[in-house]
Amino acid sequence: MLDLTLNNGVTLPAIGLGVFQSPPAETAAAVEAALRVGYRHIDTAAAYGNEREVGEGLRNSGVDRSDVFIETKVWVTDFGYDETIHAFDKSAGKLGVDTLDLFILHQPVPARFETTIAAYKGLETLLAEGKVRAIGVSNFMPHHLERLLQETNVVPAVNQIELHPYFTQPDVQRADAAHGILTQAWSPIGGITFYPGPWGDERRNVMQDPTIAEIAREHGKSPAQVMLRWGIQEGRSVIPKSTNPTRIAENFDVFDFELSGEELARIDALDTGVRGGPDPDQAREEFFSWSIPEA
Ligand code: NDP
Repeated sequence: MLDLTLNNGVTLPAIGLGVFQSPPAETAAAVEAALRVGYRHIDTAAAYGNEREVGEGLRNSGVDRSDVFIETKVWVTDFGYDETIHAFDKSAGKLGVDTLDLFILHQPVPARFETTIAAYKGLETLLAEGKVRAIGVSNFMPHHLERLLQETNVVPAVNQIELHPYFTQPDVQRADAAHGILTQAWSPIGGITFYPGPWGDERRNVMQDPTIAEIAREHGKSPAQVMLRWGIQEGRSVIPKSTNPTRIAENFDVFDFELSGEELARIDALDTGVRGGPDPDQAREEFFSWSIPEA
């Protein structure tokens, strides 16, 4: 296990379990399996529709609530000062917890950035009241961060962005680092490059990349383990998703080997600069039709 220290002194276990697209019926078991093999960090979101099952898995595991870092996200339809403060009640209520360890804005709303600012001010209030231990953002590009920093007081602790060997966003990583913001990688083993969905079949699957396969062979590890090790050795938090107990355990078994500087550089060189997921600057009107139910 490896802990990272956020800019407000709170520690976050570098590896967390992601639960995007984890069906609610499988989520509690996945969370329980993860906690049993040593994970102490879960990343969910109001928009994933499985916060209740994350809470169930936590309780079923028998692991003490205070030993687990719970991170969740405010969806865009709950942006606004009062709405975001209320979004805490929705998420904490479903999770069955009194406080959240990290509460982040799921993405900016560039067309209505004032609601993004108001939402972040809601997070600042939740932080001041001790309801959340740290606050942050997701899918913020450097220009979104600049504007946020100008209009708010608390520097985000975390910026969670798409980050895997085919898309490393060095400009965002640099901006995060310059402000003391931890970069947290979503799709850290490249899920966005291979999972089925409306993304098309043109994608190159990073899980099948020959360079990663070669490095994996040299260390007797899997491609997923190499990508996760690369992420944590470069100082990032990584939140691989799986609902399969064997793969959940595999993704946590990355503390018994080390990649050389040359290997890290070979993986860095795989960046294509091509995003797999949505462009945070492109308005997706369908996002505004999802509403988050009450707890
Ligand atoms: P990941 O990179 O974590 O990849 C997940 C995929 O990889 C799943 O299809 C999973 O299938 C498979 N998988 C897991 N472990 C292995 C393994 N060891 N070997 C082979 N295949 C494996 O992608 P995600 O997009 O899910 O990203 C991780 C997390 O990041 C999300 O769950 C979510 O918490 C967060 N996220 C945040 C976003 C944001 O906008 N802020 C956007 C997207 C994700 P299986 O379950 O069958 O093992």
